[in-house]
Formats: sequence, structure tokens, C-alpha cells
Amino acid sequence: MMIAITALFLVTACFCRSDRETVKAPAAEPKNIAVATPTPLPSLPGSGEKRADNGDFLVEKSTAGTSRFREIDDRVRAEKLLEKAADQLNRSLSLPHDIPLRTKECGEQNAFYDPKDRSVTICYELMDRFHQTFRLSGMPEEQANEKMFHAIRFVFLHEVGHALIDAYNVPITGNEEDAADRLSAFVNLRELGEDGVQAVLAAADAFAIESKQAKPAKKHLADEHLLQEQRFYNSLCMIYGSDPAKHSDLVKENYLPRERADRCQYEYRKNVDSWMRLLEPWRKN
Ligand SMILES: [Zn+2]
Repeated sequence: MMIAITALFLVTACFCRSDRETVKAPAAEPKNIAVATPTPLPSLPGSGEKRADNGDFLVEKSTAGTSRFREIDDRVRAEKLLEKAADQLNRSLSLPHDIPLRTKECGEQNAFYDPKDRSVTICYELMDRFHQTFRLSGMPEEQANEKMFHAIRFVFLHEVGHALIDAYNVPITGNEEDAADRLSAFVNLRELGEDGVQAVLAAADAFAIESKQAKPAKKHLADEHLLQEQRFYNSLCMIYGSDPAKHSDLVKENYLPRERADRCQYEYRKNVDSWMRLLEPWRKN
């Protein structure tokens, strides 16, 4: 029974519902069990004890195989997307081990945290899907590209959320996928200024556009990820809650219903407070 439970934690945590029928799932080999063995819980907040810094977010060099993705890869490199993020995270957080970050061609439209090698992967296919989603909604090429990079920043921090939950053995009493979305919203909105707002907005846009493309099927309803519509409203709620006066248009223009908006400031503050307390032993400043 213990092995069965442990094996559950070895399943790769991803950004989108994964059509895993067509994709090789990571094998739950016995040698991997040690990776997922629960470590002692972090100190309770308030103890003031800081954890040792024994690792870094490390950007791995990768090359896109097909020309379709080479263009995206060039932009990822030119904008130093991962390097800048890694640098910022390394300055803010101590880690118990290294966490490799990579972009690659995966054969599916997704992004993952893999507990076997504790790596975060963003697939070119997912970037391309965002780009196509925004293009199909009528955006010009350059705007779609810009929006794609914003959405990818949200995805990247969602996967970092899974990586931190694993590395720090963070207690989560709800749905981990939702917790990872909330961590991404927290870091984006609290730490990354206007770029962060744009990242959460771009992800919300992508959720909204994709939710209109197909009615949720049983497999979507059963999935551990929330429905795209729910991720859309949760993202807007976090943005609105972070500064209701600044983002009042979200309610005035009826993107976010008033009934939900009324609770968003509390939701946002609760989310920030929770993550601040959970990350406290690992925060460098
Ligand atoms: Zn996830």
C-alpha cells in the first residue's frame, strides 16, 4: 500500500490535462521511490529558522530540432527567459538541491515538473499552441508572440510551484494543481510588477479562448486540473484582488462577476499570506 501511495507522487506534475494515452508515462521504478520519500516537514512559521542553501535553479542548454520551433527557441534565448527567471529565483530562495530548467521538443503540448530528476520542462509545442491560440483569436503576429511569452511566464511559475512543493515538502490541503496556479499568481502579482500582471492576464486569456473551443468532456471533469473556465476566473480574481481600484474594469466590463469579485481581495491576501508563511524558512530576504 505504501508503495502504491508513493508511486502516485512520482507522476509528473504538468500544466495541462495530459492525453497520456499517447504519451509514455514516467516509470515508477523502485530506485525513484527514495526521491519521493517524505522528508520532515519544514519548521512552523515564526520559528525564524532559515534553511541552508544547497542548490540553484540551473538553466540547461537545449536546441530545437525542427525549424518550426527554432524560431521560438531563438526568442527564448534572445529574451533570456529562463536565465532571468532562474537568477531572480536564486536570489530570493534557498534550495535543498538543484532544479534544472529546460525548454525542449516533447511530442506533446505541455509543461512538466518531473520529480525523478527534479526538473522543470517547458515544451516548445505548448509555446506554439499559445501562439496559435492567440493568432486564431484575431491577434496580429507580434502581439500573439508577446502574449505567448507572457503566458509562458505564468506556466513556468506554475511548474516551479510543483518543484517547490516537492523540494520543501510544502503541506497542501487542497488540489496541488490549483496550489501551483496560486503560487504562480502570487509570485507574478506580488514580485514581478506589470510583467507579472501581464503574465496572469495572458494565461487567463488562453484559458478563456480554449474553454470556448470545446465543451468539457468527462475526462476534463475528472481531471486533477480545474476546468479552463475556472482557471480563467481564478486568475482574474487574483489580479482584481491584488489591486481592486487599478483593475476595476475587470468587474465594470463584466469579465469577473461582482459576486466573486467581492471576495477576491480576501482570496488574494489569504493566498499571499499562506505562501509567504510556507516559504519563509527558505526566503533569503
Ligand atoms: Zn501542474
